[in-house]
Amino acid sequence: MAQIRNRQSGNGAASQSDQNGAKGQVLQTAPRVTLIPGDGVGPEVTGAAVRVLEAAGLLINWDVQQAGAGALKTLGTPIPDSLLNSLRRTRIALKGPLETQVGQGYRSINVYLRKTFNLYANLRPTRSFEGVQAPFRDVDLVVVRESTEDLYAGIEHQVTPGVVESVKVITARASTRIARFAFDYARRNRRKSVTAIHKANIMKLSDGLFLKCARRVAADYKDVTYDEQIVDAACMRLVTTPRAFDVLLLENLYGDIVSDLCAGLVGGLGMVPGANYGEKGAIFEAVHGTAPDIAGKNVANPVAAILSGAMLADYLDHKEAALRIRKAIGEVLRAGQTLTPDLGGKATTSEMTEAVLNAMTSVDARLSE
Ligand code: ATP
Repeated sequence: MAQIRNRQSGNGAASQSDQNGAKGQVLQTAPRVTLIPGDGVGPEVTGAAVRVLEAAGLLINWDVQQAGAGALKTLGTPIPDSLLNSLRRTRIALKGPLETQVGQGYRSINVYLRKTFNLYANLRPTRSFEGVQAPFRDVDLVVVRESTEDLYAGIEHQVTPGVVESVKVITARASTRIARFAFDYARRNRRKSVTAIHKANIMKLSDGLFLKCARRVAADYKDVTYDEQIVDAACMRLVTTPRAFDVLLLENLYGDIVSDLCAGLVGGLGMVPGANYGEKGAIFEAVHGTAPDIAGKNVANPVAAILSGAMLADYLDHKEAALRIRKAIGEVLRAGQTLTPDLGGKATTSEMTEAVLNAMTSVDARLSE
């Protein structure tokens, strides 16, 4: 039986089982991972992910940290030092969504964390599941989004009242790095093609540079087909023939928008997991936001967060556990009995999580036969 310890931390105090006996020794060797429950539906869906990871046999020493609107209320800052220190120590996190106000207030914490920890590659595997009502079956594509620059550089100023400027920053270094990530991913996962998505017909310098870098990298990967599409045309093709896409390579803003579009192809935001990778760490989080309209109602779809947990399991090299989690999710969706309202069902978040846990047991039994 797996053990997961939720430890409110920053204080470094050892739990009782850390201090005594064999359990403590096991925990010493368990990887430490920062757990950020987040705002809105975050605590509900990350709670589900933690339970499923535990059931899959992962031994994780959780370092629970507050951030976002919740932290602003209780600690007076949306990005507490204890959170940053925890991330500096663990370099890995499972994170719920964090609230960012529209048009005012503090800067996006998600953007801040990605920039601070140089998590430059945002990966969003998007695929159809049998049993889920969606516009298409058999969608299986991966969005690779650069996540440190572009219009997210946060350089905005007022030139004169009524006139503002936002600066789009594209560098050869970041464009080459993300292109290499996309091609490496494609090669490692036996994907056939990488499509760079751009608007270089209008933004000739910035998107032009992005494409130039992608083409240079593509030349080193003759085994992966490379093509390019203008973002508006790509959106139209995505909603008519999504199966024509494999790995999508995008700058930050197009990546953000196209990710949500792709989620719509496979049943909505509750279905798509995500991860932010850097050279030295990773943060795992669902594509969806805080979903304030359903927060605290126990109806959020936990699948995206649980699948983000599976990506974390892969990262920690627990490939078999990750596989078991994905199989269990597949079974629950296929059965169609215990689905949250966004998937057309009546189940609560807790009931759907229980169904996944039960499915894990049968998956385990079959795997051990
Ligand atoms: P934020 O500002 O934090 O991004 P938002 O409401 O603008 O919040 P999302 O949180 O991504 O954006 O939600 C968009 C819509 O999708 C909402 O109607 C929300 O209820 C729905 N949604 C998002 N996540 C889930 C989920 N896990 N389960 C069910 N519905 C969800």
